Amino acid sequence: MITVFGSINLDLVVAVQELPRAGQTVSGPDHQTFPGGKGANQALAARRAGASVRMVGAVGQDAFGPLALTNMRDAGVDLSAVRSLPGASGLAFIGIDARGENQIIVASGANARVDADWLDGCLSDADTLLLQGEVPFGQMTRAIGRARETGAAVFWNPAPVPREDIVSSLDAVDTLVVNESEAQDIAARAGLAADLDAFIGHFATGTRRVVVTLGAKGVKAGVAGDRFEVASPVLRVVDTTGAGDAFCGALAAALDAVTPIGRALKEGVAAGALACMATGAQSSAPRREDIRRLADQIV
Ligand code: ADP
Repeated sequence: MITVFGSINLDLVVAVQELPRAGQTVSGPDHQTFPGGKGANQALAARRAGASVRMVGAVGQDAFGPLALTNMRDAGVDLSAVRSLPGASGLAFIGIDARGENQIIVASGANARVDADWLDGCLSDADTLLLQGEVPFGQMTRAIGRARETGAAVFWNPAPVPREDIVSSLDAVDTLVVNESEAQDIAARAGLAADLDAFIGHFATGTRRVVVTLGAKGVKAGVAGDRFEVASPVLRVVDTTGAGDAFCGALAAALDAVTPIGRALKEGVAAGALACMATGAQSSAPRREDIRRLADQIV
C-alpha cells in the first residue's frame, strides 16, 4: 500500500489574453475549478496506476474542501486519514495566457497545518510513504522518521525543493525523484558540480534509487553502480501539466508492487507521456492498462 503525506488544493483557473503586471487587473471570460495539490495529484496517479493508496493530509472547513477531494474519492483513494480543519482549504489561483504561460499564487491553507502524527497506524514494512514538497519541511522529516521506524519505503519527490537543509534528509530516502532544475538546486547545496551524472553518482549509494526527469527526453536514473536511461515515446503533446506527478505516481505504484527498476521506470515514463496527451493535472492521470501497453513499446 502507498500512503501519501502531502498537499491537497483546489485550483481556480482563469484563461486570459495577457497575464497581469503588478498593479494591473485583467479579466477572462470564466473560471474553472480543478482538484489539485501535488500530494493529491500523486495519490490519484498512483491509484489510477493500480496501487492501493491512502491519503494523509488536510482540507479546510470551507466550500472548497469537499471539491478538492472529488477525484481521489471517485478513484477509490482511501480518504479516512484526511482531516477537515477549521479555516481555509489550500487554493491555487492560476492565470493562463494565450501562449500557455501561467502565473500561480498558492494559499497553503490547511496544508500548512498537517501533522506527521496523523500517520499513526498508517505505515508498515510492506508499505511506501510517498512525499512531495508542499507541506511544512519539519513535518515531512518527521514523516520520514516514522517510515524508518516502521520499515516503510520512502519515496520523495521534493518539489518545490524546500529551503531547509534537504541534503542531510536524503540519507533516509529510498527513492528520490527530481526534475533537472531541482537536481541542479540540490547539487549546488551539496557542493557538487551542476552535472546530472555527478548528482546521480553522489546520491545513488547503497540501495537508494535516484531518478532525474528530463521532460520530453525521458529520465536518467541510478542505483549504486547501475545506470538507466529511458527515452520518452513521442506522442501528441497537448498539456504537460501533471506529467511529473503522473510519473511519480506510476513509478511509486510499480516499485510498491516490487517491479524491477528498469520496468518501473518505463511505466513511469509511459504515464508521464500519456499525461501530456490530455489537459489538467488530475484529469490527465492515465490508467494502468494504458500505462502498461505503452511501457511494453518502450525499448
Ligand atoms: P516536471 O513536470 O516535474 O518539471 P518533467 O518536465 O521532467 O518534470 O516531466 C516529468 C516526466 O513526464 C518526464 O520524465 C517524462 O516522462 C514526462 N514528460 C514531460 N514532458 C513530456 C513531453 N513533452 N513529452 C513526453 N513526456 C513528457
